[in-house]
Amino acid sequence: MKHQEMSTSAAPLLDIRKLHLSYSSGRGCKVRAVDGVSLSVKDGETLGIVGESGCGKSTLARALMGLARPDSGQIIFDGKDLLSLSAAELRRARLDFQMVFQDPYASLDPCMTVGRILAEAIDRRKKLTRAGMDARIAQMLEKVGLPTEAATRYPHEFSGGQRQRVAIARTLCTEPRLLVADEAVSALDVSVQSQILNLLSRLRREEGLAMLFISHDLSVVRHIADRIAVMYLGRVVEYGPAAEIMDQPLHMYTKALISASPVPDPIEQKSRQRILLAGDPPSPSNPPAGCHFAWRSPIAVDADTASTAGVFVEAKAGHWVEAHPATVQEESLLELWREQRK
Ligand code: ADP
Ligand code: MG
Repeated sequence: MKHQEMSTSAAPLLDIRKLHLSYSSGRGCKVRAVDGVSLSVKDGETLGIVGESGCGKSTLARALMGLARPDSGQIIFDGKDLLSLSAAELRRARLDFQMVFQDPYASLDPCMTVGRILAEAIDRRKKLTRAGMDARIAQMLEKVGLPTEAATRYPHEFSGGQRQRVAIARTLCTEPRLLVADEAVSALDVSVQSQILNLLSRLRREEGLAMLFISHDLSVVRHIADRIAVMYLGRVVEYGPAAEIMDQPLHMYTKALISASPVPDPIEQKSRQRILLAGDPPSPSNPPAGCHFAWRSPIAVDADTASTAGVFVEAKAGHWVEAHPATVQEESLLELWREQRK
């Protein structure tokens, strides 16, 4: 798949360019977990990343947070390439982007009170007096809808949803500009999920936070994202404004994800046609040559066509899709594929 340069007018806050990250899985085998991803997030914007389990979403987040080293590509945050910074410079830059994980219990030290957890995070950004610190902790707790007394309690004394609030409060302590939320609501009950999603939406409005919101669940992503990137086998296969992706998806894979995601209206739910894909995604350690999606697609193509790669094209302003006879049906897009193959 050819990735063309995606240009945006104002410089984005986060610009991920042609990022590759592979794991070695013994016997010289390489798992291409992230395989040439280019994405950007503007100031104050929420970019949703969606795709089946194993498509490389968490690896992308880990690369961004400096927890895994990419093979190649660039991660430009606020004009600086994170991959070329020294350890000290990276620590400083890291205050500006914080991560919320799926399991807050694992990421919150069980031996520390919530107050101490928050104080440690606040201290990384600025030095405060004792009274100043107490006031700041109370303010952080209030922001996420927890009472001041929460500061004296330990993480295990809270419910899952409240613990996620503590984890979110901790990320706010360093006054970040970007929040990376990886399956942040996936472990929560549905009713609690929507409370945490509402909290994230509110914080984003009030604090002007940009967000990279990652989930395997499209019904969650669609509620919070301004734009959506659909990932399949380490690559972005469709990328554009959330409403457009949901209402006029172009890639068969996106259509399948939408058809599998529940809608609140039972009548609409009943009348919807389910698009079924064949089998599981291929292994990223041994992806098929050519179009990675061809053999799972409901559009049958011959072996010769399947062995040719798709091309990443801008179908409409800001709406990109991997065009290939097995992925899209629009004649204009197939024409672009034919032209680029020549
Ligand atoms: P997602 O978050 O979308 O479920 P991941 O980024 O966790 O996907 O995984 C992408 C691919 O990389 C999967 O095939 C997974 O098995 C593989 N993978 C993830 N972490 C490792 C690791 N530490 N070592 C080897 N392979 C890994
Ligand atoms: Mg994951």
